[in-house]
Amino acid sequence: MIADTETRLIAPHGGELVDRSGDRPGKVDALEVLTLTSRELSDLDMLACGALSPLEGFMGRDDYESVLETMRLSNGLPWALPVCVAVAAAPMGDRVALADESGKLIAVVDVEETYEYDKEREAQQSFRTTDDAHPGVARLYEQKPLYLAGRVTVFERATPSFPELAKDPAETRAEFAERGWRRVVGFQTRNPIHRAHEYLTKVALETVDGLLIHPLVGDTKSDDVPAATRVECYRVLLDGYYPGDRVVLSAFPAAMRYAGPREAIWHAICRKNYGCSHFIVGRDHAGVGDYYGTYDAQLIFDEFEPHELDIEPMFFEHSFWCRTCGSMASAKTCPHDSAQHVFLSGTKVRELLGAGELPPEEFSRPEVAAVLIEAYRS
Ligand SMILES: [Zn+2]
Repeated sequence: MIADTETRLIAPHGGELVDRSGDRPGKVDALEVLTLTSRELSDLDMLACGALSPLEGFMGRDDYESVLETMRLSNGLPWALPVCVAVAAAPMGDRVALADESGKLIAVVDVEETYEYDKEREAQQSFRTTDDAHPGVARLYEQKPLYLAGRVTVFERATPSFPELAKDPAETRAEFAERGWRRVVGFQTRNPIHRAHEYLTKVALETVDGLLIHPLVGDTKSDDVPAATRVECYRVLLDGYYPGDRVVLSAFPAAMRYAGPREAIWHAICRKNYGCSHFIVGRDHAGVGDYYGTYDAQLIFDEFEPHELDIEPMFFEHSFWCRTCGSMASAKTCPHDSAQHVFLSGTKVRELLGAGELPPEEFSRPEVAAVLIEAYRS
């Protein structure tokens, strides 16, 4: 692990934490204005705070092409997904203003180039499919036809949906350093945490100094559990079952792309910027539907030399409660018949919760189930 000399935490991707927040430049009101989509707004906020270090703005053609073909930036540094802003036409000036969905000006881009891109090719490379039933591909196909590249300066940060959980990479790093942590494992989630997730985060925590529970709170598909409900689940679980001095809960502002394997790499790189030396990758990480094989998001890490990513992936199997073992286990650690395993399908869990019934305690902590039942009622 390449460590930051002051904190001994893992160094940011590319060596330096980028900060693209800044003062509002003069004459912004006179500039041509681009209104960003919610996914582009998430990316912009992550550029501002250095979560996407070493990127300082939206990608130029060289980086874009290189990322699609080789999963590396043009300088060779690993990078898995395009970070681009789409426009209808090349702007007239060399600087444009960026607005959020309400029309408020929040940033400027110093335009380096505008270029054409092939949506089907990007879909195939990023998502491994050109099927427009895939939510990430559908969003890509709706984009405007050109990409605009250039460094950003963000003078108005997005209002976080959970202010107390909004921690920039510099802040999580400071918090880890203050606690004396050096090795920190990050856990990405967009679902409520059941016993299975609790188990694997704790197994991972046994081997490192601290745990960052980092739920994604940007855009997700409308049928995912709402972020507010998920955050409440994390709170009750942490309060009841995790030692406070070993865990940091913070929100990850990214929008889901559902790019499966490539998004697993992208998520790991982002967490490295937040100060994580390790990253949990479960089965079908960031997947959707049947587009990716069960282990694709783990196997893709083999396409990099270990020192290239630096952050270390920790791979996990599905886990369950085994009645004979009398503990949580997985196919890796339990020799017993599946009849001994307490496993409920997502559909079954939703049925129980919808009927106001608690799932078995071996599957879900009652405090978490109570939050979910309440959410189903309202
Ligand atoms: Zn067993």
